[in-house]
Amino acid sequence: MAKRILIVEDEPQLSQLIADYLAAGGFESEVRSDGRSGLEAALSGAFDLVLLDVMLPLMDGFEVCRAIRAESDCPVLMLTALREDGDKIRGLGLGADDYVTKPFSPAELVARVRSHTARYDRLTGHEEGPSERWIRDGSLAVNQASHRVRKDDDDVSLTAKEFELLLLLMRNPDRVFAKEEIYERLWGDEHYGDPSTVTVHVRRLREKIEDDPSSPRRIETVWGMGYRWSAGK
Ligand code: CA
Repeated sequence: MAKRILIVEDEPQLSQLIADYLAAGGFESEVRSDGRSGLEAALSGAFDLVLLDVMLPLMDGFEVCRAIRAESDCPVLMLTALREDGDKIRGLGLGADDYVTKPFSPAELVARVRSHTARYDRLTGHEEGPSERWIRDGSLAVNQASHRVRKDDDDVSLTAKEFELLLLLMRNPDRVFAKEEIYERLWGDEHYGDPSTVTVHVRRLREKIEDDPSSPRRIETVWGMGYRWSAGK
């Protein structure tokens, strides 16, 4: 299945040229010509990599990059102009995986795209297209698109919030999340309940995914601070 690349670039001639290079390299692509619609497309989960220009209408490439990173670990390559030297560093600081300097050679661009999509596949353990994506971690496998979870190849049934909690922790291994932060992220737009809800959900999730829920090895409690995902168990 061909990898799908999102091109966020407001110069039509350049985006067409990039699309042609990518097509010749065996990739499928779609173009968005402003930052806002680029971000929306990037978060749709339909793309394997984002090529992101810096100077864009409505929202610049840095803002888009930061917003993508808050939600997704999809590879992002920034397209920067030669004179914008500080931009490279700034883009990488915001979570871009790499940058390509304009003007670039078609061969270089396609090679970078190829190497980053391949690296991402190795990292996440999936070789299929975006809709069939499984994130694997030890004996656990999670499919983001279909909301399925498997432990040792057995299906595990999670509620929507348990699934969101699992994904949040798994995507951020070793990061400590305070109960309040988890609450804010998962329940933030619902004006009821309280952060102790998080404790209950963590307990239920542990019962479903831990080998021994009374002595959890994946969702660790960091006393006085919160919870942390311990990868590779
Ligand atoms: Ca531009």
